[in-house]
Amino acid sequence: MKRVGVLSLLGDFAAHAEALRRAGAEPALVRDREELRSLDGLVIPGGESTTMLKLLRYDGLLDDLTEFGRRKPVFGTCAGAILMAQRVSNPEQESLALMDMDVERNSYGRQIDSRVAVLKTEPDFESRTAAGELEAVFIRAPRIRRLGPGAKILARFEGDPVLVEQGRHLAATFHPELTRDLRVHELFLEKL
Ligand code: GLN
Repeated sequence: MKRVGVLSLLGDFAAHAEALRRAGAEPALVRDREELRSLDGLVIPGGESTTMLKLLRYDGLLDDLTEFGRRKPVFGTCAGAILMAQRVSNPEQESLALMDMDVERNSYGRQIDSRVAVLKTEPDFESRTAAGELEAVFIRAPRIRRLGPGAKILARFEGDPVLVEQGRHLAATFHPELTRDLRVHELFLEKL
């Protein structure tokens, strides 16, 4: 069985681990570089990207994650998606630059600080999972402002890409671990 990890420094890593378990995997909670070594893929959860960065620097894990992502699939959700980006604004901060995209933090303002929305899924998503609406929980979500040519948009909200795939990597600006729907996690597990 392939080994998937969930970066467990802060945020909703427990909900991700539970979703991965329900999708048939046996996730490992990752807190140091030793745990990273044996994995085939990693989920970076939501939470607070600035604090996550501080902890990653403190633990000396930042370079290990970048190195890991050069070889293995990484799935970033919300704050995790912010870490995956090439460039981050509002305000600018360091990132792992694993995906060719730029994101703006907390970009939707108050109206979407926290809300549940029904997403329009794209053919690239529907052809690989059971078709049907995708419910998405947004919590102080970032917005993808630029997406490189190699990216596939899997779902949109009000025209903006909110679930995107680029090579081995996946990013969601919402929280798929907070709904019962396992399709997004299943899609990531297929990449391992
Ligand atoms: N706004 C947070 C950040 O910038 C992300 C929010 C989340 O992960 N739910 O890190």
